[in-house]
Amino acid sequence: MAITVGVVRETVAGERRVALTPDVAKKLKAKAVGLLIEHGAGNAASFADATYKDTEIAADARSVLGRADVLLTVQPPSLDEIAALKEGSVTIGYLSPHLAPERIKALRDRKITSFAMELLPRTTRAQAMDVLSSQAGVAGYKAVLIAAEASPKFFPMLTTAAGTIRPSKVLIIGAGVAGLQAIATARRLGGQVEGFDVRPETKEQIQSLGAKYVELGVSAAGTGGYARELTPEERAQQQAALAEHIKGVDVIITTAAVPGRKAPRIITKAMVDGMKPGAVIVDIAAETGGNCEVTEAGKTITTANGVTVIGPVNLAATTPIHASEMYAKNLYNFLELSIAEGGVLKLDWDDELIAKTCVTHAGQIKHEATKALVEGST
Ligand code: NAD
Repeated sequence: MAITVGVVRETVAGERRVALTPDVAKKLKAKAVGLLIEHGAGNAASFADATYKDTEIAADARSVLGRADVLLTVQPPSLDEIAALKEGSVTIGYLSPHLAPERIKALRDRKITSFAMELLPRTTRAQAMDVLSSQAGVAGYKAVLIAAEASPKFFPMLTTAAGTIRPSKVLIIGAGVAGLQAIATARRLGGQVEGFDVRPETKEQIQSLGAKYVELGVSAAGTGGYARELTPEERAQQQAALAEHIKGVDVIITTAAVPGRKAPRIITKAMVDGMKPGAVIVDIAAETGGNCEVTEAGKTITTANGVTVIGPVNLAATTPIHASEMYAKNLYNFLELSIAEGGVLKLDWDDELIAKTCVTHAGQIKHEATKALVEGST
C-alpha cells in the first residue's frame, strides 16, 4: 500500500525550518505517496498551508503522528511525539543520537525505524542527500553577515571624497563546507579575505575563491576527507603562529570541527586580548564548545579590550526558506531510495546509505556506537 508521509510543526525554540516544502511535496505526490501535514507547519519558513498542493492538512500534530508511515523532521522528535507515532513507522531527520539516550530508547521500544541524517556516509552518491553540507553552507553565509553587521568597519575598500577607506581584513578558520561559503561571502562583500585549515588540500580551494592561504605549518589530514585532532605540540604551534597573525585582523569567522569530538580550541583568551578594539569573532562552532575560548553559545560578549565574540546557534534556521528548500530536497533524495512502484516503502538494507544512516529498527539499536552508549546505560 502507498505510504503516507507526515510533517508536524517544529517546536524547538528558534527552529524556523520545515522538513517538507511545497516543491518537494509535489515530487512526492508524483511518486504516488500520500501527504499529511500539520496546519501551519511551514508558516515559520513562509510556506503557507495553501501552497502545499494535494496535501491533506491536519488540525494538530497528534492526527499526523498517529497516521504517518514516514515522519520527516528537522529537529529530532520529542518523547511525546515518539509516543504518538505508529508502531513500526519511520522517522527521517536530524537525530543527534549521541545526545539523548532516552529518545533512542523510546524509538527502539516503539519499534520505530529511525534514520539520523548526520550519520549518512559522505560518499559521492550521497551528496544530494547531505544535510550537513547543505546546512553548513547556510551557516557559513550567515556568519559573515552577522560579522559585517557587528563590525564597526566597512568590509569593502571605498574611495570617497572624504578619503579612502581600507578594506576589512577577514580571516576564516576552517575551510570545510561552511568555511568555503564564508570565504565566498566575505569576498563578495569586498573584504580582504584569508583562510586556513589543517587539511592540505584546502590551500588550493581557498585560493580558488580569491582568498589568501595562511601558512601555519600544521598539517593534520584524517580519514574520510576530514581533519584529525591536533596533538598538543601541533596545537601549540598553530596557536603561536596564529596569535601574531590575528593582531592585525578585523573579523574572524571560525568553522573548525573534527567529527565526533568537541570543537577544537584554536583561539585562546590571551589571543583575543591581543586583538584590535572593534575586532569581531563569529564562532560557528559555538554549539559544540566553540573554537574560541571566550565564546558562549547563544551569546554576544564584548571583552575588556573591545573585541566582540559572537556564538550563534542554529544559524541555518535563520535563513529558513532556502535552508528548508535544500534540507527538504536532501530528505527527498534519501527517501526516494526507498519508494517503490505505487508509493510503497521498500527499505534496501544492502544499500549502505540506508544501513549506515539507520539508528533504530524493529526494536533494536542498529548503530553500534549509539547502541554502546544507550544500552551501556540501561
Ligand atoms: P567539518 O565540519 O567536520 O570541519 C570543518 C573544517 O574544520 C574542516 O575543513 C576541517 O579540516 C577543519 N579543521 C578541523 N580542525 C582544525 C584546526 N585545528 N584548525 C583549522 N581547521 C580545522 O567538515 P565539513 O565541512 O563537513 O567537510 C570536510 C570535508 O569533507 C571537506 O573536504 C568536504 O568537501 C568533504 N565533504 C565531502 C562530501 C562528499 O563527498 N559527499 C560531503 C561533504 C563534505
